Amino acid sequence: MLISYQIFYNAIPKILKNGPMSHREIAKQLQQLYPKHCNDSIPCPHRKDNSVHPEWDHIARNAEQALKSKDIIIRDPSIRKWEIA
Ligand SMILES: [Zn+2]
Repeated sequence: MLISYQIFYNAIPKILKNGPMSHREIAKQLQQLYPKHCNDSIPCPHRKDNSVHPEWDHIARNAEQALKSKDIIIRDPSIRKWEIA
């Protein structure tokens, strides 16, 4: 899981060089680039509700938040997309 996080952390800024993207669009790119690290059959154990949510998507969201805290990417709330800071 830590390896997936580092891969996503490094990949997201490169993906966003193509332009602003929503989390869903970033996730789709990550799944195409790193299918082994995007296994939909592993559910997120952190969610208390019953929604089915894969853990890799949670890891990708954590990577987005970490990149935001380092001022590497920013989220434009008006278009609800991430972009390079
Ligand atoms: Zn989780």
